[in-house]
Amino acid sequence: MIEERPGSTSSLRRRNSAQVLQAVRQAGGLTQAEIARRSGLSPATVTNLVRDLAAAGQVEVAATVLNGRRSRLVTPVVPSGYVLGVDVGRSHIRAGLADLGLDLVAQGDRRMEPGLPAEQGLELVGQLYQEVLERAGVDRGEVLWAGVGVPGPLDQASQQIGAGTMLPEWTGQDLRSRFARLLGLPVAVDNDANLGALGEHAWPPGLSVRSMIYVRLATGIGGGLILDGRLYRGADGVAGEIGHATIDENGPLCRCGNRGCLETMASIPSLLRVLASALDREVDVHGWVGLVRQGHTTANRLIDELGHHLGVAVSNLCNLVNPSLVLLGGPIAAAGEALLEPVRSEVRRRSMPSAYDRLRVEASRHGEMSEVYGAARLALDALTERMSAQGEDLSQAPATAGRGSGWTNS
Ligand SMILES: [Zn+2]
Repeated sequence: MIEERPGSTSSLRRRNSAQVLQAVRQAGGLTQAEIARRSGLSPATVTNLVRDLAAAGQVEVAATVLNGRRSRLVTPVVPSGYVLGVDVGRSHIRAGLADLGLDLVAQGDRRMEPGLPAEQGLELVGQLYQEVLERAGVDRGEVLWAGVGVPGPLDQASQQIGAGTMLPEWTGQDLRSRFARLLGLPVAVDNDANLGALGEHAWPPGLSVRSMIYVRLATGIGGGLILDGRLYRGADGVAGEIGHATIDENGPLCRCGNRGCLETMASIPSLLRVLASALDREVDVHGWVGLVRQGHTTANRLIDELGHHLGVAVSNLCNLVNPSLVLLGGPIAAAGEALLEPVRSEVRRRSMPSAYDRLRVEASRHGEMSEVYGAARLALDALTERMSAQGEDLSQAPATAGRGSGWTNS
């Protein structure tokens, strides 16, 4: 939230200006009245900031009529250049290349053998990057920044993934440096579920909700929080790790070292093993979702069980942070209502009525692309922040500024 204080400094003005620009870019276009409403700034301040942004060539302003009233529509001017978003999972790597207006220009994915050493995983990321560049017909020099999502809590100081990651082969590595060397780009790294939350919230046209929870359901269960319009990481990057919320203090041992975590009480690998033994064949999460949609009894009973456990953990989080939206993402969210209904029923039963009354529990909008979108968004935000710190303005970014420009991760 933007604060306006009397005697505001130029740094406050720059921050407000950046936030106005971000809101306009996120929405793809807003009236000045909408900017004021979303930012909490006064209409007069917004008018001044928009005038300066237009003079700097970062936005265009046009007179328009909305609901019978004259208003001024502010749209972003998109400079040239691209950002890369990468999502590294336990068994997949996905990438997307977007222009600086966050239009996706190419995407690609690779299966990754679970347990593959980090060296080989990194090699796959490098190959996939080359593939999306070729698909888009974009030169490496035009790419300015990359964002990468990894499945585990990421310590923002050391840039390492912590205990409890789904990718133990990657622990102990400074991931930002490794990816930066591999891609030849400045890189921002974050937890995949955090990026899923960011992708759902801030990939154009974005969501207007201020506080939401994103839960990523794959082999593991991750979560990301948007609080007061911003991604919330907590003190050490662990915030939102709903998979390790304690459901039963004497429950089974979890890979994080605790007992009775949601991930062990509603263990997706265990549920898959039950389903496999009922089917008498191997099945993965995609196969499970396919069976749920076909009305398979055991597949539906197991998804219902997952939904109820998940609902217990989600309701605790709802009482704590009072979001207005809970989004379920990751491959299992494709099960739709069969999963959403038991989650809603537990949340209805267990949340404080005032925390539940206006709450919506829905499936994610971007499916398995949420994390890639969030990673690209993270890259764009890092690029914007670096340029405003250096007093440059993004609309004048040269198309070849990606390498050798001095924009490094420092
Ligand atoms: Zn745990």
